[in-house]
Amino acid sequence: MAYSEKVMELLEKRLTRQLATYLHVCVHCGVCAESCHYSKSTGDPDMVPPYKADFLRKIYKGKYDLLGSKFPGWFGGVKEVDEEMVKKMVDHAFGACTMCRRCTVNCPMGIDTGMIIRTTRGILTELGLTPAGLQATIDAHMETGNNMAVSKEDFIDTLEWMEEELQEDVDDPNAKIPIDKKGARLIYTFNPREPKYHPLSIKAAAKIFYAAGEDWTVSTDSWDVTNYALFSGDDKKARHIADNLISAARKLEVQEIVMAECGHGYRAFRWEGENWLGKIYDIPVRGFVEVMAEYIREGRIKLDPTKNPDPVTYHDPCNQARNGGILDEPRYILSKAVMDYREMTPNGQDNFCCGGGGGMLSMSEFAKRRLAASKVKAEQVKATGATIVGTSCHNCLDGLAEGCKHHGVNVKTTNLVEIVANAIVLPEKE
Ligand code: SF4
Ligand code: SF4
Repeated sequence: MAYSEKVMELLEKRLTRQLATYLHVCVHCGVCAESCHYSKSTGDPDMVPPYKADFLRKIYKGKYDLLGSKFPGWFGGVKEVDEEMVKKMVDHAFGACTMCRRCTVNCPMGIDTGMIIRTTRGILTELGLTPAGLQATIDAHMETGNNMAVSKEDFIDTLEWMEEELQEDVDDPNAKIPIDKKGARLIYTFNPREPKYHPLSIKAAAKIFYAAGEDWTVSTDSWDVTNYALFSGDDKKARHIADNLISAARKLEVQEIVMAECGHGYRAFRWEGENWLGKIYDIPVRGFVEVMAEYIREGRIKLDPTKNPDPVTYHDPCNQARNGGILDEPRYILSKAVMDYREMTPNGQDNFCCGGGGGMLSMSEFAKRRLAASKVKAEQVKATGATIVGTSCHNCLDGLAEGCKHHGVNVKTTNLVEIVANAIVLPEKE
């Protein structure tokens, strides 16, 4: 009762023709049950996509559907949203769906359950009910410019340290990690996880740019590739974060923005950012996977696959593959960078989520369910016999590592940038 009016009002604000269609046309056929890693891994009927979407669907029907509003009990509508229902909405929208949209491509009606869940999350966020871990990640980004609150001094120190490592690695005292270089051809971003815990992947990217002879730079104003407001459904904050990055790129007068390997960061900025900002970017955006593939194709970098002899499989990040359209480039890269590539089944557009998507790794209260739901992914990995899982997303790295470990699958996880950097053959010095 307490929430009814507010929830109805927030739904009205967010209702589009597209969302109304998705809320209307579910025939509860259950075809999507097998497509969701939660229901497939656990067999729990509460984890099937339509059940998770039905909270919002019932509210919609109770207000907008002709029969649902007149006879709610008979036609799947609700008139009152009480505390118990809101509690269940928080649990299911934030804790039981990674918004991977695998069910969407397997639904005969094309229902975008990920969109329904994001709208539910957005409504709950406006009610102040975002889980603390997810909210803290977004707050840190809003306050400090990156989601792990890495200070500008620490960021620059790490870049300088990695520059020294790069110079040693490539045996060239002039090799650089250019900081705030106006007029560089491209600006490159990082995941805060890199300066904080994995600085060697900064060196790996720098080595690839060095080998390709690229004119690149990093902005100290805005360098975080992530945008967790995509996951809280908070369009205002998502817009602010996207705006920071495009503004930093404009300030440095670059010709291209290249997103580090981060599935949701790529989707948020490349595919959603223009909607949030209400205008088309004046600077093109690509993912680093696309750029690396181009370097190889054009002969700008040379790779020696014998440097990566162990069997490798590839996990498609949902937000980069199914929701971002990058499917061929990673496979092309791996065909040139490793000796023994093994495809996962299913893969590409139909790949299963790593388990850590949707901001799930930041919400510890749902960890038990997340790990149980990663069973299907761990089994996929195990079936390949690979000892290394390559992927193109820092979040997936952690999701895969934790999920595989939990289900007893012993593999190493790594981003493509490190696989490529390891295989690089530098030109002979004159
Ligand atoms: S497959 Fe589509 S129509 Fe069928 S239950 Fe799932 S969401 Fe509803
Ligand atoms: S979007 Fe992904 S996690 Fe969510 S219900 Fe669909 S398949 Fe499951």
